[in-house]
Amino acid sequence: MQNPNSYKRIVIKVGSAVLAKPNGSLNHAILSAISEDIAWLIKKNHEVLVVSSGAIALGRKRIKLSNAPTLSESQAMAAHGQIELMSAWKKNLNKFSIPIGQLLLTPRDTELKISSDNAKQTISKLLEVGCLPIINENDSTATDEIKFGDNDLLAAKVAKLVKADLLIMLSRIDGLHASEEDVKKNKHGSLIKEVKKITPKIKKMAGKASDMGKGGMISKIEAAEICLKNKCAMVITSGSNKKPIRGLSTRAKSTWFIK
Ligand code: GLU
Repeated sequence: MQNPNSYKRIVIKVGSAVLAKPNGSLNHAILSAISEDIAWLIKKNHEVLVVSSGAIALGRKRIKLSNAPTLSESQAMAAHGQIELMSAWKKNLNKFSIPIGQLLLTPRDTELKISSDNAKQTISKLLEVGCLPIINENDSTATDEIKFGDNDLLAAKVAKLVKADLLIMLSRIDGLHASEEDVKKNKHGSLIKEVKKITPKIKKMAGKASDMGKGGMISKIEAAEICLKNKCAMVITSGSNKKPIRGLSTRAKSTWFIK
């Protein structure tokens, strides 16, 4: 079903480029709209988890470092920016009386039995007591993430870990287009509405990773592959829509990955 209302446990991934402006300041209007939609889901008894990027992007503003930061500079920005990020989430979700809990995970934490069991236990308890789990990668130790990674994969692994039935990717673009060229030319007609299987053709549509060598559509397709294998649907839509999540129930532009 192409409607978030049909799913019980929902992971929402919010990308850095959605939350932060290019100068490193927070996009208040977007975070506020996303928070309002999260409150709407929770009120309708959905179980919601957030995977939020943005630590490095927000850390950039206050810590003046080089334009092409080294690994340790990125780690310092993430360490600082994570606090900015969580303060912003806290402020916005407070308006709806939604308490939050923070989890910082590494890819290994989602794979090793002992740490993944602990993460699962923490998340279950947070959900049980009505506290919204907000997850990011632990950028101080997960160096691969800073070098090539992004949170798309983390979000898919979290969805698998908690047996979510839907992963919503709030991205800069509204979904998968027939080619990267079409995205550049703003050819909205080429938006693919539904994907049932990740084929080489779909991967080709996604193109390569984005300029910074991380993320981009291809990592979302890899995330979709993990989701589909684990009976979880996934949808990509623009995080800057007025009602980024509610809009999905009234057919906002998006690409659904459903078996
Ligand atoms: N953990 C990174 C951050 O919060 C995520 C990078 C990304 O997904 O863009 O900045």
